[in-house]
Amino acid sequence: MSKCNIYCSQHSKTERDWEITPDGRVWPCCYYANAWDKRLATEFGQFGETLFVINDDIFWGLLQQEPDFNNLEIHSFDEIINHPIFQKHIYFEGWQSDNPPAMCVEECKIEIDTLTGNETTRAEEGKAWSHSLDGTPLLKDK
Ligand code: SF4
Repeated sequence: MSKCNIYCSQHSKTERDWEITPDGRVWPCCYYANAWDKRLATEFGQFGETLFVINDDIFWGLLQQEPDFNNLEIHSFDEIINHPIFQKHIYFEGWQSDNPPAMCVEECKIEIDTLTGNETTRAEEGKAWSHSLDGTPLLKDK
């Protein structure tokens, strides 16, 4: 997959927000938390978000090798959020790499409206904003 621009509304260089599922697992945002919650869904439409985790070689590989890496019953919150997967792959290094996380690409890849020139993402549909490449929001509209 080629390099792409991702705008994350949950994690900037200075601030990071996390989701915790009822089973005590820490996730970078609701998309990942929902994907985990729906992993046992039997209806294909509900299972869709989980596919974006499965299609992420790096993150899926980690979940296979260390299924409790983000489990608060096993690790402290600081240990979990400092894991390389959250410090590199699902963060700026990963977003700007040749192999960005599939979930982040699907939900938060920047699309440019060909008519207005406004930038938006699927997650931010209906809104329009500009941002710097380090993730700092700049303007709501051009
Ligand atoms: S899917 Fe990725 S880029 Fe989008 S909000 Fe979640 S962590 Fe951020």
